[in-house]
Amino acid sequence: MKTMLRLLPSLLLTLMLALTLSACGQDTERTSRTGEDSPAAVYHWKLITTWPKNLPALGTAPERMADRIREMSDGRLDIRVYGAGELVGAFEVFDAVSRGTAEMGNGASYYWRSKLPIAAVFSSVPFGMTAQEMNGWLHYGGGIELWRELYEPFGLIPMAAGNTGVQMGGWFNREIGSLEDLKGLKMRIPGLGGEVLARVGGVPVTLPGSEVFTSLQTGVIDATEWVGPYNDLTFGLYTVAKYYYYPGWQEPGATIESIVNADAWASLPKDLQAILATAVRFANDDVLAEFTARNAEALQTLVRDHGVMLRAFPPDVLDALRRESAVVVAGLAGDDPLHARILESQAAFTARVRAYHEITEHAYLNARSAPPAEARDGT
Ligand code: CA
Repeated sequence: MKTMLRLLPSLLLTLMLALTLSACGQDTERTSRTGEDSPAAVYHWKLITTWPKNLPALGTAPERMADRIREMSDGRLDIRVYGAGELVGAFEVFDAVSRGTAEMGNGASYYWRSKLPIAAVFSSVPFGMTAQEMNGWLHYGGGIELWRELYEPFGLIPMAAGNTGVQMGGWFNREIGSLEDLKGLKMRIPGLGGEVLARVGGVPVTLPGSEVFTSLQTGVIDATEWVGPYNDLTFGLYTVAKYYYYPGWQEPGATIESIVNADAWASLPKDLQAILATAVRFANDDVLAEFTARNAEALQTLVRDHGVMLRAFPPDVLDALRRESAVVVAGLAGDDPLHARILESQAAFTARVRAYHEITEHAYLNARSAPPAEARDGT
């Protein structure tokens, strides 16, 4: 056994050398087989986003993704990223990529609600799945296949390109003590959450990120949800609203989407397709990691340095919102069989993963939060 352990480093070295050599061999073989000695074709793509240019995490992730793709492809796939409004407006990204104005887009599928209401369930469903659960459904539970089927008639290929994790409930300029306080409340809240708010008497407003701060400052809206502490701190929302509510029932794990024009995708050689898909999948993980770390830091800053007042939504408010969420989601099916299949698949996966997470994630988080034994005993 000891001899084996001593030999292990040299065995590993031999293996690595062998792999490197065989990789070199394949390279040479491919070059000689195809006889290519002219420079490889370079693809110049545009990626348009629904986010303000360089918005932390949401805006910077596609920039980093483009950098990685450039590096991995040795410059053969060169993607230039545009913020919202630079080439097209935030809500025009879907159509612009569909018609090929840009080869790629980055946003959230609930921004296409007016065109394709069911698309919202691929971003986030109120009281629905968390980031971890959405990733399970999308990549191992049939979700991504359904998403592709839904976007196929538009000539678009969707991919999951990040997740915010559980968002915050939002910024309010008055306290929410009961359901009554939501009546007539004008709140920036996109997607399905907005419809749920309307059903309990609120007035949802959909605004792109760039207009959120000014609208709250000037009283066009009374409240806004945006993302979480990291993005909300950057926007300075704490300067125009006093109360910061949790949890973000409206977006418990919003998937960021990348959409690729299907013709542009088909024009890429196989290796560039693989590089692109892998870079998007990496971004999917990377964005969640960044949000997890930076949200925790930013929350500390908001509370400690800016005196933000954290408030939990009262249980009866959450009960009403949960009840209405189920009605709104059920209403999405309409009479389209594909839409019904999407909802069925998501509902079945949610039920299954929820039963599992009740005794794992949820039970663990509860256990971790339990007070020490001395406190429980009152000693
Ligand atoms: Ca949000």
